[in-house]
Amino acid sequence: MIDKIEYLNELNSVQKEAVENIYGPSLVIAGAGSGKTRVLTYRIAHLLQQGVRPYSILALTFTNKAAREMKDRIAAIVGSKQAHNLWMGTFHSTFAKILRYEAEHLGFDSNFTIYDAQDSRNLFRSIIKEMQLDDKVYKPNEVQNRISSAKNNLVTANAYAQNAQIQKIDASVRRPRIFEIYKKYSQRCRQANAMDFDDLLLQTNLLFKTKPEILAKYQDKFKYILVDEYQDTNYSQYLIVKKLAENHKNVCVVGDDAQSIYSFRGAKIENILNFRNDYPNYKLYKLEQNYRSTQNIVNAANSIIHKNKGQIKKISFSDKEFGDKIKIIKALTDHEEGYIISNDIFETRMREHINYKGFAILYRTNAQSRIFEESLRKLNLPYKIYGGLSFYQRKEIKDLLAYYRMTTNPYDEEAIKRVINYPKRGIGATTINKLQEAATQNDSSMWEVITELTHRPYGLNTGTISKLMKFTNLISGFQSQLDKLTAFDLAKHIAESTGIIRELYNDRSPEGVSRHENIQELLNGIQEFTQNALEEGQELQLNNYLEDVALLTDQDNEKDEDRDKISLMTIHAAKGLEFPYLYIVGLEEELFPSQMATGTLPELEEERRLFYVALTRAEQKITLSFAKSRYKWGNMSYPRPSRFIGEIDESYVDFTYDQAPEFANNGNEYTSSETEYETPDEPSRFQKKRSFSTKPKLKQAGARIKRNNPLSDDPNFEPSNPALIQSGMVV
Ligand code: ATP
Ligand code: MG
Repeated sequence: MIDKIEYLNELNSVQKEAVENIYGPSLVIAGAGSGKTRVLTYRIAHLLQQGVRPYSILALTFTNKAAREMKDRIAAIVGSKQAHNLWMGTFHSTFAKILRYEAEHLGFDSNFTIYDAQDSRNLFRSIIKEMQLDDKVYKPNEVQNRISSAKNNLVTANAYAQNAQIQKIDASVRRPRIFEIYKKYSQRCRQANAMDFDDLLLQTNLLFKTKPEILAKYQDKFKYILVDEYQDTNYSQYLIVKKLAENHKNVCVVGDDAQSIYSFRGAKIENILNFRNDYPNYKLYKLEQNYRSTQNIVNAANSIIHKNKGQIKKISFSDKEFGDKIKIIKALTDHEEGYIISNDIFETRMREHINYKGFAILYRTNAQSRIFEESLRKLNLPYKIYGGLSFYQRKEIKDLLAYYRMTTNPYDEEAIKRVINYPKRGIGATTINKLQEAATQNDSSMWEVITELTHRPYGLNTGTISKLMKFTNLISGFQSQLDKLTAFDLAKHIAESTGIIRELYNDRSPEGVSRHENIQELLNGIQEFTQNALEEGQELQLNNYLEDVALLTDQDNEKDEDRDKISLMTIHAAKGLEFPYLYIVGLEEELFPSQMATGTLPELEEERRLFYVALTRAEQKITLSFAKSRYKWGNMSYPRPSRFIGEIDESYVDFTYDQAPEFANNGNEYTSSETEYETPDEPSRFQKKRSFSTKPKLKQAGARIKRNNPLSDDPNFEPSNPALIQSGMVV
């Protein structure tokens, strides 16, 4: 254990101040790599050293992995027992935990399912079909995005229906019936005892709004609140933090407006800017030294981000060596790009004696990973892909998980639909549609309809009814084991007795073999979960496992054997991470910046922030690459190199060949009227200033969840009596 003096010595003077001033609202606003996450981590350690109880500290991170790493660091400073009891995790996992405990106040059961994006999309698809709407007009993913955005702005289905302004917008895009879809979707989720990701935040807000006594108890409990990556919080998250911090006001948020890259999910930079309005007596800490990257990288990244209009003025410098200039690779084809980069990694590793984990390849879209996988495989270089079609999204995995979900929550409609006829038991689509219709008519769930078929057969013949009874008996059998078996024993029992393992085992095609292996892998994961839970004295039932799985993010499913591998991921997934050797690939117009995002200035600026995030992940060396030809949708395209390459100040780039005329948008048409927001400690309104001029010089360049009371870790806490509080809020 490091003693107090020692850990404070690992901070510079501003960081130390930010760590030691534990009372009142604090805003740390600073560029990438300046130690914002370090400040949060050490501040928590410091709080614990000052005698603050771990269960009264709430720390919200962007991924579960980030929370785990923070916890490990804190444990190294103050000991693992203290760190163990911290409330630390993503917004979604933290508030899912609270919602499970408070579910009945909202009309849900505590074992509610969390629908992932795919479940939610499937439900939208069914509803659009049932309403006989044209799915070319009511595209399920667009409807889903629109409703997600409504939820993140706390617009409930009823409010949506009543809002004339929204109606007008929907009508203008020929989708006047979205509000009906939203209402039906909400009803169906409720009947299925399910919440989607956005609901976790929306319902938390509704809980706090409608049950002040519940809000009060959490306000009292969380005496210290900390938030990482604050620039990417949406309105719903912002409001949760604001409400929880209302009494104690010991809230510390850290962020960088230049790294706000989730506006498509409703993130609002304004949350940073509003901080001082919400907490007029806040303290502002500006961290200016970048400890991550060489001078060349920091300077290059600064030269990019300064081209954006709207930003908070800040300084970012590095005291490290100057470092290598940014290398540019031009490939003739996308395959050649993969080949050159893989070779470069191979050679650099041999030359510099670096572990595989020191390398990362970042791309704009998941689809770009395939070519790199191929070329890395050819050279026998180990790699790990983050995100994309993750392990838990594979069909065989989702199928088995659907049985597990039904075991804990039989009302889960998406799960029922997946497994009611898998493995095949002769229940056809017509029957399923009938059951669905019956459920809709009766305002109930499919499970209720199925279990009451002996009384109300809905025109189904006895043969079909008996098949359905077998199915419900199977599920009920699993349910009866829920409290008796560990997660692993029950998971294995289900995989075997449903016949899934046998079915996959009998399929000897390469795909079948791989699916069988995946199921094995899933079971290994559940065994690991059970073992860990056992060792740590945590609850180890199947429902506890499922809660963990539902909330994994792209960065989270790293396994031990992945520790020394080259990382492949999208730039979005790389947020907060750092790698010595970084490759940013596919720097082509219409790929990066994305084709979807060059229509308006705000969109282009978000792409530029994304490029800034990418550059600032590097510690030692950056290589950028582009291809002169690339297959897109099965056709060959001939993209131009990205304007972003040309936007980096040429003195930080190593142009080893003359490609001056190639770069798109030389001189950058958007740089002529730069606008800065004042830092929030300066005069009260964000004045607009011109400070950057167009420079033609660029022209030539081209936690595991406990089912019991989440407040039980707090000896002073008295839970409110649920019986006193009415449930059944209508969303
Ligand atoms: P990002 O904006 O990318 O999330 P950040 O501001 O959160 O970055 P950190 O990840 O906390 O930055 O820190 C970047 C790197 O610099 C880390 O490796 C961290 O350990 C190191 N670092 C931060 N502060 C110091 C310090 N005072 N002395 C030495 N190293 C430091
Ligand atoms: Mg960070």
